[in-house]
Amino acid sequence: MKVPFLDFVRPYEELKEELDEAYFRFMRSAWYVLGKEVEAFEEEYANFCGVKHCVGVGNGLEALHLALRAYGIGQGDEVIVPSNTYIASWLAVSYAGAQPVPVEPDPRTFNLDPHRLEAAITPRTKAIMPVHLYGQPADLDPILQVARQHGLKVIEDNAQAQGARYQGRRTGSLGDAAGNSFYPGKNLGAFGEAGAVTTNDPELADRVRTLRNYGSKKKYYNEVKGYNSRLDELQAAFLRVKLKKLDEWNMRRREVAARYLAGMSGLNGLTLPFVPTRAEPVWHLFVIRHSQRDALQQRLAATGIGTLIHYPVPPHLSGAYADAGWKRGAFPVAEELADRVLSLPMGPHLSREQTGQVVDGMRHILESLAGKPPVPLEV
Ligand SMILES: *Cc1c(COP(=O)(O)O)cnc(C)c1O
Repeated sequence: MKVPFLDFVRPYEELKEELDEAYFRFMRSAWYVLGKEVEAFEEEYANFCGVKHCVGVGNGLEALHLALRAYGIGQGDEVIVPSNTYIASWLAVSYAGAQPVPVEPDPRTFNLDPHRLEAAITPRTKAIMPVHLYGQPADLDPILQVARQHGLKVIEDNAQAQGARYQGRRTGSLGDAAGNSFYPGKNLGAFGEAGAVTTNDPELADRVRTLRNYGSKKKYYNEVKGYNSRLDELQAAFLRVKLKKLDEWNMRRREVAARYLAGMSGLNGLTLPFVPTRAEPVWHLFVIRHSQRDALQQRLAATGIGTLIHYPVPPHLSGAYADAGWKRGAFPVAEELADRVLSLPMGPHLSREQTGQVVDGMRHILESLAGKPPVPLEV
């Protein structure tokens, strides 16, 4: 039996009736952009997150970019980002015209290390962008404390953690604003591109609403140089169906994670994900670490188990940021993680047989790799 890294067939099968119904409702409405479905989804997702406002936009990158723009962050400003995130977090800052300033993560949680923030703050710093990486909430309380002391905004990158909780509160509601992605593979995934800004700040919500629609509140009266970044009616209709299932599907991800954690504890040279007590993760990804990651990945593939690496190149070493001149060694924690992380199959539709197969495959392969001297994990 194969265990694919991601399964897009069974999620559709489970919700086929309601998704098809949403499609026909949309077609019959003959209204395609910024209508009733988007309005309803915005209200439902705001309620889900426990915030006052949600503004649907084109994708997650745009959600982050428009939130930064709406706070007036741009040329000459700096925004603190994790050194080990998906490049979209950095690109949002670059699009706004500001400078991403990387800060290393706590390697145990993969998330921004609050103790390293102060050293990165300069008179130009305007905001901190914590990322709830892999569905694990970042340690927001100390981050917010540093931000308040220095008068900085906190914009959460909630692309990977819809439904997660930190100290009992949902991610997407913890900072001043949050960028959410509904890219198909995310925990709340559309069937195409989609994103949203969530916030309790009415002025910010209002500015993002204007920016997403050509800078106009009233058609053909353009107050600012805005963008075309609107959430589709069709995607909103689909997202409304999937939002109703999100908590249940996240619970099923938790069960998969629990089976992995129990089945793989104590395996040779393996570092399993660590969950701090204040956090309730939603396991967007189940990321392990091993010094012989590439060999492990190849052998898993040979037994039909699909894995991916999130992410093989940290943004500071990518071609996209070559102009900044960072060298290997500039952010050693992010670099070491990039060399060692591996994401195992994860999702609400993995069967017991499939997770059992992953556990058995890992046990078997790690025992055979044990013959070689293990390289100790330093981070
Ligand atoms: C997916 C993702 C984004 C961007 O979302 P898109 O909808 O693909 O634009 C931003 N940040 C992180 C951490 C992501 O994983």
